[in-house]
Order: sequence, then C-alpha cells, then structure tokens
Amino acid sequence: MPRLVMKFGGTSVADLERIRNAATRVRREVENGYEVCVVVSAMSGKTNELVGWVRDTSVLYDAREYDAVVASGENVTAGLMALTLQEMGVPARSWQGWQVPLRTNSMHGGARIESIDTTMLDQKFSEGLHAVVAGFQGISPEGRIATLGRGGSDTSAVAFAAALGADRCDIYTDVDGVYTTDPRITKKARRLDKISYEEMLELASLGAKVLQTRSVELAMRYKVRLRVLSSFSDGPGTLVCDEEEILESRVVSGIAHSRDEAKLTLISVADRPGIAAAIFGPLAEAGVNVDMIVQNIGADARTDITFSCPVDEVPRARRALEEAVAEGQIDYRGLDVDEEVAKVSIVGIGMRSHAGVAHKMFAALASESVNIKVITTSEIKVSVLVDRKYLELAVQALHDAFELEKIS
Ligand code: ADP
Ligand code: ASP
Ligand code: MG
Repeated sequence: MPRLVMKFGGTSVADLERIRNAATRVRREVENGYEVCVVVSAMSGKTNELVGWVRDTSVLYDAREYDAVVASGENVTAGLMALTLQEMGVPARSWQGWQVPLRTNSMHGGARIESIDTTMLDQKFSEGLHAVVAGFQGISPEGRIATLGRGGSDTSAVAFAAALGADRCDIYTDVDGVYTTDPRITKKARRLDKISYEEMLELASLGAKVLQTRSVELAMRYKVRLRVLSSFSDGPGTLVCDEEEILESRVVSGIAHSRDEAKLTLISVADRPGIAAAIFGPLAEAGVNVDMIVQNIGADARTDITFSCPVDEVPRARRALEEAVAEGQIDYRGLDVDEEVAKVSIVGIGMRSHAGVAHKMFAALASESVNIKVITTSEIKVSVLVDRKYLELAVQALHDAFELEKIS
C-alpha cells in the first residue's frame, strides 16, 4: 500500500476540536488507500510555556532536562490524536520518538537525526494500524530524550517520509502554502504553487519559519515530495520540488526576514594574518551563530570588522570577545553594538542568470529612505541588515519592486 506522512503543526492541534478536524483529514487519506504516519506538534503555545518553565527554574539549565520537559508537549498530542482516530473508527496507535526508535546525536536542544528504524512501524502497518508519532523528538546515544530544535516536527515528518518510503510528506499548518513573503507582513503576499528545494532552503534559513531549515535539507537530499497546506481549508498548497519541475521562470520567488538580529562592530582591530580566526574562533566556541561578516579596508595596520548574530546571543558574544582581549588574542579600540536591526533577504534561482537584481533591491530600499547597514550575497539570494523599525516597510517595498503580487 502507498504511504503518506501527514504532519500537523501547533495551531492545527491547538485543542480537541482542531485535533478532530485534523483526524478527519487523516481518515480521508486512509479511505484513499494510504498507510498513514501522522506526525504531531505540541498544542500551540505549549512548547513556549514549557521552555519558559525551564528558564524560570534554572538560568543555565541542563539541556538534557530541558529536552525531558519540552518533549512532553508532543507526547500529549500524539496520544490524543491516536484516541481521536480510534473514536472515528481508524485503527491507530501512538509512539514517542524513543519507542520507534528515532535515533539522534547527543546535541540536546538541537539534536540531529541519525537514523530511524522502521521495523516496528512496518510491522504495525502490515497489521492494519496507522501510526501517530510525536514530532520534535528522538533518543540520544546515551538513551535520553533529545529534541530537534524549534520547529523540529517538520524535520521529524520529512525524516519519517524518507525512512518509510512515503509517496509524499504533507505539512499541515495555519497558512495554505508557502507565500512570496510572510502573509502576516503584507496582504499582497501570494501563494506559490511550487517552489524549488534550493529556494525553500534559503527562505527557511533566512527566517521564513513555515518550514524548519533542516526539514528542507532532508527533503532535498532524499527527494521527498514535500507539500505545505492548510489544515483549515482545502486547496492544493505549495509543492516543494526539483527546479526542473517548475516551468515559469522567476527572478525573485520570495522575501524572507529575520527580526531579532544584532550588528557588532569591532573598531580599529589590530590587523595581522590570523586575526579573523582569533575573533571568530572564540565566538564559535561560545556558541554564537555568526551570520554576516564584513571587514573594512584597513589603514595603519588596523581595520574594522562587523558581524551579525541573533540578538539574544549578544551577551555571549561580548563575553567571548572580552575574554579573547584579556588573553591577548585580539586587540581593538571599541565595540559598537546595535541591537535594533533586522535582516531582509530576497531569494530566487533566476538570479543566477539575471544581472541587476541587487541594484533593484537597493534602489527600492533607497526610494523608501531605508538605510542598508550590511549586505551579503550568494548565488540565489541577497540579504541586507536594516533598522528593525523599517522591517515591514522594507519587505513591502521589495515585494512591490519585484512585482511578487503578480506571481501565481
Ligand atoms: P506550525 O505551528 O504549523 O509549524 P509555524 O508557525 O511554524 O506553523 O509556521 C507557519 C507560519 O509561518 C505562518 O503562520 C506564517 O506567518 C509564517 N511564514 C513566514 N514566512 C512564510 C512564507 N513565506 N509563507 C508562508 N508562511 C510563512
Ligand atoms: N513544538 C515544537 C516547537 O514549537 C516543535 C514544532 O512545533 O515543530 O518548536
Ligand atoms: Mg513550525
């Protein structure tokens, strides 16, 4: 029998009525002849609440206990989904990550999936049972519960689709597909029928939280057909697929944003071979996720170096830099920290063959008097840092400039 993975996000399982609504969709696919593996998130808001409880209990919390607490949200919805399906006459059983087992590495709080043993699930399918699996979690080599990072149920779902050889992985959420930009920022955002894995990967990693970045990586690697669709309305959603399957050519397919960024500038750094390594080594060791990096042209053997990172990592970055100074590894005359910036990015595979895309982006921002603080580019994206207060304006201006409301 063909198999299907159906993943329901937090808003889709927010209460018992919504779980019933989601279960109705599962039953429909069962009636269509699929063996279904349902992957569920925690009820919306639950994971935030659990994370809050952990932080209020312990500032420098033990990540293994964080995982023990936050994985529990998905356990509740998995059991409730299995019960709801049973009530509807669909034979179903729930499993937590460790019971499958879905094995991870030991990076608690942001673990990576190492393998999924499907022997037990294969057996259960052959007995006529449909599976409900708690998303976001697995078991570490030490035998402890490990979670996959925020939004990780998407990654669980794609991993199960790959391991089970499913025809498709359907991600049910509160929007009816992937849009040209976050529909919460502009009403002009349009749903895309299809988007390439490469573009989706960029959009996700640049802040479009509709899919967790790693889920797109996995889908691309294992060629999982991934669909994003609404659990509240019927519609085709968006198919994430190979670029060869997309007929229309678009220069820019989407705009992503990441709101809570910070920009740090080391002023007048003593410039010498190895200085970048001396700065970014300690930052990496401190767990700071450095994103953009710019080094200015120096003079008198001194230069300025600017980088960006998530705003909540600024204290860690400061500490790492101060320690590196104290240990004599680096020497600079000042540290300028701007905690009020956001990143806006345009993404499109058409950029590979079109000149002038970056210029058009800069001109659109200039016409709204939005100042650009840092720029980075890659083959299919251009990102800029702007003042956070201009984030919405910047996204809207770019959406207009690239005429994304005309995309269908
Ligand atoms: P779930 O709880 O179902 O996993 P998420 O909140 O993680 O849902 O992701 C869905 C949200 O992603 C949407 O409500 C939307 O605001 C946001 N989003 C950001 N960028 C996009 C985009 N380009 N297309 C669609 N949704 C987007
Ligand atoms: N419940 C987890 C979170 O909120 C995982 C998920 O929903 O994907 O991050
Ligand atoms: Mg999500």
